[in-house]
Amino acid sequence: MSRDPRYDVLFEPVKIGPVTARNRFYQVPHCTGLGWLRPRMVAALRGMKAEGGWGVVCTEFCSIHPASDDLPHPYASLWDQGDIRAHSIMTEQVHEHGSLAGAELWFGGSRTTNLFSNEVAMDVANLPNAIGIPYQARAMDKSDIRELRRWHRNAALRARDAGFDIVYVYATHGYLLSHFLSSKTNTRSDEYGGSLENRVRLVRELIEETKDAVGDRCAVAVRFSADEGGDDDGDPVIGEHRDMIEMLAELPDLWDININDYSREMGVSRFIKEGSLEAYMSYVKSITSKPVVTVGRFTSPDTMVSQVKRGIVDFIGAARPSIADPFLPKKIEEGRIDEIRECIGCNICYTGDGTSTPIRCTQNPTISEEWRRGWHPEKIAPKGSDSNVLVIGGGPAGLEATRALGRRGYHVMLAEAQHTLGGRVNQESELPGLGEWARVRNYRVHEIQNMHNVDVYFDNLMDAEHVLAVEANHIVIATGASWLANGRGLYNQTPLDELGPAEQVFTPDDIMAGRLPESPTLIYDDDHYYMGNVIAELLRSRGIPVTLVTPEVMVSNWGDYTGEQGRIQRRMMELEVDIITSHALVAFNGNTAELECTYTGNRSNIDVGAVVTVTIRSPNDTLFHELQQGLEAGTGYKPDSLTRIGDCLTPTIIAGAVFSGHRYARELDTEVDPDNRMKYDRVFFDDE
Ligand code: ADP
Ligand code: SF4
Repeated sequence: MSRDPRYDVLFEPVKIGPVTARNRFYQVPHCTGLGWLRPRMVAALRGMKAEGGWGVVCTEFCSIHPASDDLPHPYASLWDQGDIRAHSIMTEQVHEHGSLAGAELWFGGSRTTNLFSNEVAMDVANLPNAIGIPYQARAMDKSDIRELRRWHRNAALRARDAGFDIVYVYATHGYLLSHFLSSKTNTRSDEYGGSLENRVRLVRELIEETKDAVGDRCAVAVRFSADEGGDDDGDPVIGEHRDMIEMLAELPDLWDININDYSREMGVSRFIKEGSLEAYMSYVKSITSKPVVTVGRFTSPDTMVSQVKRGIVDFIGAARPSIADPFLPKKIEEGRIDEIRECIGCNICYTGDGTSTPIRCTQNPTISEEWRRGWHPEKIAPKGSDSNVLVIGGGPAGLEATRALGRRGYHVMLAEAQHTLGGRVNQESELPGLGEWARVRNYRVHEIQNMHNVDVYFDNLMDAEHVLAVEANHIVIATGASWLANGRGLYNQTPLDELGPAEQVFTPDDIMAGRLPESPTLIYDDDHYYMGNVIAELLRSRGIPVTLVTPEVMVSNWGDYTGEQGRIQRRMMELEVDIITSHALVAFNGNTAELECTYTGNRSNIDVGAVVTVTIRSPNDTLFHELQQGLEAGTGYKPDSLTRIGDCLTPTIIAGAVFSGHRYARELDTEVDPDNRMKYDRVFFDDE
């Protein structure tokens, strides 16, 4: 197929200073949880984006000097020859596909503690550590500023030597340069403080010096916030930032624009929709002739075209859409829009940064696995035999296994008890704000529908007898998991002695099946992610008074990693949900719930008519065990393999279930070394 001419504009080359991007698809700097630690994994990940058609592919934040390290977060670095060597693996892979590589030079200031290098952090003034670690940053004197400029220049030269085409001056996101710009943090009385011109001075110097150092070969980009922060949703406060951009308008070769509030800039889809930065940054193009890029979780080519045609941006910036589908540009180019694997806005990808672990994605199970497992998001080895496969259960695990096995050419029979495919995604996407999660199902169902070698059997609740009667070569059990109704979880390690009567006790499965409480309800959240609070939101929308109890110190503690905790807490408060933290549910008798303080063990009572327990799930593995036992005892038909995947193997997040299904499909009929299931990436030794 060829591309729709409507989208031609997205494939126009765009000049950025001395270099030219082959199209308007621009992967802005984003973290991967890999950084300097895993150079080959990160190079393959970035190279894949270039192969998929992204005209520009950038690094994550890249430290210019050991005086700025961000461990435990795995940043990238450009400190020495070893770093040049590591980055050149990436730039080579990006160049191989005709794309430009960008390096985001970074100095953290008071957001860094330098726990790795043990260097004292420094910033525009004596500032508290921005993330609450009890190490302050000291105020930079003039010689420090001179040193910083020298470090930045040298890092830019190293970036050029590593083969980068675009070098960033990174002046936002609460790092050092944004503190120089801000009248709140910049309390200096020298020529770097006070007036707007003085506060902008360091950024100006760095742009000029970077251009001087590498500008003949590399474009110089500036990452800058369009607003001042402190704004209310939908009500941007631009403040001085417009004046600052005006002052520097023609200096850089490209403006990479974002906003102050991370939880909006890269907000989860529950709270933030596609293209949400436009109201904040739409003025930028009117004050500079240089190309402008911004993000907005763009997955619709029509929205992209509209952004360009209306003069909002020159480049379609993306982090998450390029993670969920590294081949998004290629699919538009080849007229395969219906094959785009759209980001669902869950931010599991972002948790890699906070947890210091390789990036993973709900929609794209191959991310981070490009080098170490050799997984390609669009290509998969042909089948290794003429075996057929029976998959039981069409949730994310079963669907992904079916899709990937189908792509390999196996004959797959998918049996699903329900009338529709999707499993937990069907139900969860009906909960408040989670509608976009249905994309996990939609993408896979769409692919499967077009496969002649895949047969789907709806309304087929399979028991062991049915399964054995099929006589499939391989049996895959993907029957999911069910929420426990007995209070057992992280805090209460055994079921509660008193929890009833049953008709007044609910689980998320009951709620999603439409069995809802009608009286004041206590939600006991020992899961710490989204389920407890979306149920609270649902019940409040029905007018039911809700008390949310959690043993953690805040609502949705784990939601901090997905960047949504603050918005969840605020939503709960706006909905007038009573929040009780650091308490566990220990008993309920139908009228009164008994709570225990997690610190003191003190008990207290609260009167409610219903309890929803959101604790842990139990695998639906009865069928698996029955089959296992039956096959061991029987003498007749024996399949080549019986395997369980997804939540049936162990309950986890949707990303885990998709990964599990994908892995099964990849590994069928292949040799996997049981002791070294993947290659192990590590840093090089260049000091010997
Ligand atoms: P996962 O996240 O592991 O994919 P889900 O709970 O989302 O698990 O999906 C499990 C799917 O399996 C559901 O759609 C459910 O209807 C289906 N299922 C469960 N038991 C059976 C069974 N015995 N026969 C057929 N389908 C089943
Ligand atoms: Fe999008 Fe979620 Fe994948 Fe991140 S993890 S790219 S938010 S689908």
